[in-house]
Amino acid sequence: MEDIIDKLYNEHALTAEEYRSLLLCQDAEANAYLQQKAQQTTLARFGNAVFIRGLIEISNRCRNNCLYCGIRKSNTMVSRYSLSRETILSCCREGYALGFRTFVLQGGEDVSQTDDWITETVTCIRQEFPDCAITLSLGEKPKEAYQRFFNAGANRYLLRHETFNEKHYGNLHPSEMNQAHRLQCLQWLKDIGYQTGTGIMVGSPGQTIDHLVEDLLFIERFQPQMIGIGPFIPHADTPFADEPAGSIELTLKLLSIFRLMHPSALIPATTALASLSPDGRERGILAGANVVMPNLSPSSVREKYTLYNHKAAFGSEAAEGLQLLVKQLNGIGYQISYLRGDYN
Ligand code: SAH
Repeated sequence: MEDIIDKLYNEHALTAEEYRSLLLCQDAEANAYLQQKAQQTTLARFGNAVFIRGLIEISNRCRNNCLYCGIRKSNTMVSRYSLSRETILSCCREGYALGFRTFVLQGGEDVSQTDDWITETVTCIRQEFPDCAITLSLGEKPKEAYQRFFNAGANRYLLRHETFNEKHYGNLHPSEMNQAHRLQCLQWLKDIGYQTGTGIMVGSPGQTIDHLVEDLLFIERFQPQMIGIGPFIPHADTPFADEPAGSIELTLKLLSIFRLMHPSALIPATTALASLSPDGRERGILAGANVVMPNLSPSSVREKYTLYNHKAAFGSEAAEGLQLLVKQLNGIGYQISYLRGDYN
């Protein structure tokens, strides 16, 4: 197994069979070696600095009905909100004062936040914060819309492919959505010039090791600048309410594999990881993550953006809890970088 890990470390690519055996490997020593190589790679490339991004959840309205997601259209238990442009700008101001130089606008596909409205909002943020990166995570849009947001000043876009396997994609999403279109959107984003992020949920219902191998091979080919992976966590008011949560260990293992596959990628220790385990974020960083995304949304709406149950949004998951985050990172020998942290 160590030969395979060394190969990934040196060549950044493996065959399907090799990925498969790495994923299936239960040997504690081999898994520790994988993590050690991933950590070594991250330290060599980024030192002990972790980039921070301020996450603003701009809307929990969504026209989609993804089976795993707590803010899916048909969940009538959600109290819906859309932030106004002025509220978003004041979140950015608060974040800027705290030291954030990247703002991530994430939300459901809210039809009331039209392409014009998003373009204008990006324009306003770009004007007021010329030195900051603007990341969008607003789902599937027409190519022209992605281009307009980019022209207005957006730099990065996060759109997880969720699963590369078409059939599995179909089991997680309503029939109006499909894997081919998701991948098309990702290609548009990359072609337009966004730093593009993709990724998966680990342990989503029906996911197999072979699906994960397909995801690994896709990400190896696509070479995204950012890779977001977190465990699936059930939400009580979705069709997947009774499904088990994804494994932390497997999530960490995938994180290390992605680090070796793509040494300069920006890889967050995700909120889902931190929500599932009190030291999830630290473990993510020790496995090769180099980004954290504290919550900058107004505290009054944080409870309403529940993609899954027990989602962490306060304490060190909160932008205003930055000192706690500093302490936690220091505790494992890391520190926050207040730089914009673009991919290069
Ligand atoms: N509407 C945007 C943003 C989605 S929320 C889009 O379509 O990209 C961001 C990510 O949260 C999703 O891509 C999904 O991978 C993750 N997510 C959603 N529900 C989840 C759940 N129940 N458990 C874990 N992660 C979840």
